[in-house]
Amino acid sequence: PPATVTLSDHFARALPELALAWQAEPAPAPRLLALNERLAGELGLDAAWLRGPEGVRLLVGEHVPEGVTPVAQAYAGHQFGHYAPRLGDGRALLLGEVVHAEGTPRDLHLKGSGRTPFARGGDGLAAVGPMLREYVVSEAMHALGIRTTRALAVVATGRPVRRETVLPGAVLARVAASHLRVGSFQYARATGDVDLLRRLADHAIARHHPAAAEADNRYLALFEAVVTAQAELVARWMLVGFVHGVMNTDNMTISGETIDYGPCAFMEAFDPATVYSSIDHAGRYAYVNQPRVAEWNLARLAEALLPLFADDEERGVALAVEALGTFRPQYNDVWSAGMAAKLGLADAPAELVDDLLTLLRDNRVDHTSFYRRLGAAARGDTEPARELFLDLAAIDAWLARWRALSPDADAMSRVNPAYIPRNHLVEEALAAATDGDLGPFERLLDAVTAPYDERPGLDHFADPAPDHFAASYQTFCG
Ligand code: AMP
Ligand code: MG
Ligand code: MG
Repeated sequence: PPATVTLSDHFARALPELALAWQAEPAPAPRLLALNERLAGELGLDAAWLRGPEGVRLLVGEHVPEGVTPVAQAYAGHQFGHYAPRLGDGRALLLGEVVHAEGTPRDLHLKGSGRTPFARGGDGLAAVGPMLREYVVSEAMHALGIRTTRALAVVATGRPVRRETVLPGAVLARVAASHLRVGSFQYARATGDVDLLRRLADHAIARHHPAAAEADNRYLALFEAVVTAQAELVARWMLVGFVHGVMNTDNMTISGETIDYGPCAFMEAFDPATVYSSIDHAGRYAYVNQPRVAEWNLARLAEALLPLFADDEERGVALAVEALGTFRPQYNDVWSAGMAAKLGLADAPAELVDDLLTLLRDNRVDHTSFYRRLGAAARGDTEPARELFLDLAAIDAWLARWRALSPDADAMSRVNPAYIPRNHLVEEALAAATDGDLGPFERLLDAVTAPYDERPGLDHFADPAPDHFAASYQTFCG
């Protein structure tokens, strides 16, 4: 690959109303902390060059290849249910799209690159900890087969960031199918410029849902495609116990990728009411609420797209309601098929699944270890799974019903991960990295990016957090 990065500016050219040309703040002492060589390779980028001084300056936005104009993207959004008409990239920049022969264009985007005109009260910066957190969690999600933005690199800037304490600053280089969000459509709609809204929709169709272009009602087909993508995405979150934490409409993509790893966390003891975010007092974004919130966000997308669905508003609303009505059945299909797979079955009776979830909750059983240990139970060794329960009679009765259906143990070990980025391990790794030791981060990354492949010596990555940790764990917006 060439010793530079070639970027296109399709987004900025197609949608200038949503793109504000801006520059990153220079980093006083950039130092590469993590580079995803494999992803660089997939994008046709030269990893050795990215590691060098010019590459590192590119990854903090200081060295901009010729012809490239970084932009801050404008968007709106409902935050915890309240509409904010002007959010936008307050501390991020889109450098452009990486276009290479085989693949579709991918955004190269920087987070933590300094204040933009969308920064409002924010400092435009990000700390090393939260950026490495996004790196490890998004790469774990990708390894789990869940659609997500990717992490290309984290570079420490040498600039201090003031939070509760003074922390080292960093920039994350993120790669995404795009950064189009529900909030992008809300913003376009609020301008009252239907031509802009249509151009945005056409851009999204071409980029993410090209089949919609063939439909009789292409904009309705776009909406349907987003409903399908999000129903599948959120079902997959639920199956691995992922709690996004801040499912505002500006954090929901049109592509169907998971985006914005802020106060996210993986659930340990199974409890539908699980909330980690320190600011989510009402539990709006609790684990169990995620499908309903996704549906609510999609309703906001439908409202934004409404003028494109039909000339007659009433007709448009009817079409939108019908399309939105497909969210639940699609979500349920992916969830049910996924639960059957976790149990090693072609088909899992709903009652068997419901009874299990009740048992897991009542016994506060670790979500991830349970399904992994159930693989051993499929081979006849029920003890490892059993010992997670207090109510042994109840789990024995459930295990007997399940084993009568002849579960496939090998299939289970391919869908039930051994290693997820457990919250206590993530916190340990980030604390060490903040103090200058990247070892724990690198070891955790190794474990979670091959999540199904149980290796000797990695037991502590598979174990739940100590009780005292789990009980008080909270996440912050970074
Ligand atoms: P988030 O909750 O991460 O989705 O961010 C919501 C909005 O706040 C977006 O417009 C962000 O760009 C903006 N934002 C978050 N943190 C900062 C910061 N430190 N400086 C400037 N803007 C920020
Ligand atoms: Mg966001
Ligand atoms: Mg965020």
